[in-house]
Amino acid sequence: MVGAKEDLTAGASRWQELTWKQLLSGFSCAECGRCDRSCPATASGYAIQPQQIIQKIKTHMVQVGLKATNGNGAPKLVGDVISEKELWACTTCLACMNCCAVWNEQVP
Ligand code: SF4
Ligand code: SF4
Repeated sequence: MVGAKEDLTAGASRWQELTWKQLLSGFSCAECGRCDRSCPATASGYAIQPQQIIQKIKTHMVQVGLKATNGNGAPKLVGDVISEKELWACTTCLACMNCCAVWNEQVP
């Protein structure tokens, strides 16, 4: 049971809380757009594009994370980089993950 409490966190609010696989997702993205085309929320006009979730995390990690400037004034992953509107537009249907060419996991 050691470490069980840490495993109970839901989602991530900072890039440091993402796994190494999730952080590398942006670099493996082929930018094929299949996830965007499969997303019912995107098709319905909601403010979400699953490919952008992946790409924004990559850009944020490169711009903020690797420069170790995640303190004062740095944009927040949730709210600044990825808006709450985007997050709440997701229905968690998993269509984007099921069609991803490189098995990226947009939902987690
Ligand atoms: S899980 Fe969310 S982002 Fe992915 S296709 Fe469904 S609604 Fe779109
Ligand atoms: S389906 Fe996968 S590889 Fe294609 S754009 Fe979306 S995240 Fe990138």
